[in-house]
Amino acid sequence: MIRATSFNGKTVAVFGLGSSGIASARSLVSGGATVAAWDDGEAGRNAAAQEGIPLVDLSQADWSHFSALVLTPGVPLTHPEPHWTVKKARASGVEIIGDIEIFARERAAHAPNAPFIAITGTNGKSTTTALIAHILRHAGRDVQLGGNIGRAVLTLEEPAPERFHIVEMSSFQIDLTPTLKPTVGVMLNMTPDHLDRHGTIENYAAVKERLVEGAEIAAVGIDDDFGLAMLQRRVRVGPAIAFSAEKSLAPGYSLLDDTIICSNREALAVKLGSLRGIATLRGKHNAQNALAAVAAVRECLNWLGQSSDIDWQGALSSFLGLPHRMEEIGRIGNVLFVNDSKATNADSTEKALLSFPRDVFWIVGGRPKAGGIAALEKYFGGIAKAYLIGESSEDFARTLNGSVAFERSGTLDAAVSAAARDATASTGVEPVVLLSPACASYDQFRNFEIRGESFRQLVEALPGVVMRRA
Ligand code: ADP
Repeated sequence: MIRATSFNGKTVAVFGLGSSGIASARSLVSGGATVAAWDDGEAGRNAAAQEGIPLVDLSQADWSHFSALVLTPGVPLTHPEPHWTVKKARASGVEIIGDIEIFARERAAHAPNAPFIAITGTNGKSTTTALIAHILRHAGRDVQLGGNIGRAVLTLEEPAPERFHIVEMSSFQIDLTPTLKPTVGVMLNMTPDHLDRHGTIENYAAVKERLVEGAEIAAVGIDDDFGLAMLQRRVRVGPAIAFSAEKSLAPGYSLLDDTIICSNREALAVKLGSLRGIATLRGKHNAQNALAAVAAVRECLNWLGQSSDIDWQGALSSFLGLPHRMEEIGRIGNVLFVNDSKATNADSTEKALLSFPRDVFWIVGGRPKAGGIAALEKYFGGIAKAYLIGESSEDFARTLNGSVAFERSGTLDAAVSAAARDATASTGVEPVVLLSPACASYDQFRNFEIRGESFRQLVEALPGVVMRRA
C-alpha cells in the first residue's frame, strides 16, 4: 500500500467508498491524516466500516476543517451539474482530488524519477495498459499495474526508481489529478464518448489533453483530428512522439504491412500477427494499441537512459490479451472461437467484424442499444449465419431478414451448440464462432464478464475443443 504522507496531520474528506475510495481512506490514515469518509449508499459505508474507516455524514459536516476532498471518479464535477460534495468543497475552498493525485504527490515527494506510464484515450485503454505491463514484465522489470484497470493505485507498491507504475486513466480520473506528470503520457485516440459528464467533445478533449501536457514525453495517436491537434500543440512545448496505424511517420511509430517500425531511433521491426494460428492483436484497432505500447515502453526506457534492446517480438507474441475483448479462446480443428462479450454496442462489434471478414457464425443480441445493429449492415456479407439471443431477437431478426441467414436461439447455450455444429460442418478456411453481442448483457447476465465466462464454459464443454488458456 502507498501511504499518503503528504496529508500527514490534516483532515481529509473522502466521498465514494468503492475500492479506490477505501484505498484512499486507508492510505490517508496510514500517512497520518484524519479521515471523514462517506458514501450515499449503504454498501459502501458498510465496506468502509468493516475496514475501521471513520464515517462522517459529509452533508452535515463542517467543511472548513477539511484540507481536501478525495472524490471517487464518476461523480460529476460540472456536468450536468456538480455533485453536492463538489458544491460544498468549492464553497469552503477545499481542493478536490482523486486517488491518483495522492499517488502523484507521493511519487513527486519521494521518487520523482520513478517510471510512471499513464494511458488514456476513448478506446483501447485497458488493452494498451495491459500490453505495456506485459512487455515490461517479459523484460524482467518490476511492474505495478492499476488505475482504471484492475487495482486502485494506492493499493500498489510505492513508487521506486526501478519500479514501473503503469496506470490506466479515464477522463474522470484525469480531471481529479491536477499535478499529473507521468514519465510517458499515452493518448490513444479520441471519439465522442462520456459527453454526459463533460458536456462537449471539446471539454472532453481538453481533459484528456492534460495528460499529454503534463508528461515528460507525450506519446500521441494521430489517427484522429483531436490527436493530431494535440500533438501539434505539444511539440511546441515539450518532447513528443506520434504513432499511427494509418500512415507512415517519420519521426514516429507506424506500420509497414503488419510490422511495427520506428523511424526516430534505430529501426525496430516487430511483426504483428498470429502465433500458432491464434492472434491476440488482430485488427487495425489492436495495431494502434500495439504501436502505442511499443512507443510508450521504448520512450520510457530511453528517458531512463536504459537500453530498449529487449525481445519485442517475444513480448508481443506472448501477450494473451484481455478477457472478453476479441479473445481467441480455443479451436476445434480450423474453427476458431472468439469471446468478444465486452462488445456492448454496434461500434465495438464493428471492430470484431472488421477483424473477421468472412465465415463468421455470429452470436448476437441481449438488451439492445439505440440503433441496434443497423449500422453493421455493410459487414453482413461476411456472416455465414447469425444466432439471436436475448431481448433484441425480434428487432435484430428484422434487420437481418433477407440479407443474412439466422436462427432465434434464445439462450447462449443453444446458440453455442448450433453455431459450433454449423461452423464445424462448414467448408470455410477459418470459420469463426464469434460472440460479439452488440448489446448490454443485463437481460440474461449480470454483466458482460459473466456472459463471456458462460461462453467460455460452453465452448470448453464442446467435444474436441482445444482451449488456449487453462
Ligand atoms: P477501454 O479500456 O478503452 O474501454 P479496451 O481495451 O477494454 O478499451 O477495449 C474495449 C473494446 O474497444 C475492444 O473490444 C474493441 O472493440 C475496442 N477497441 C480496442 N482498442 C481500440 C482502438 N485502439 N480503437 C478503437 N477501438 C478499440
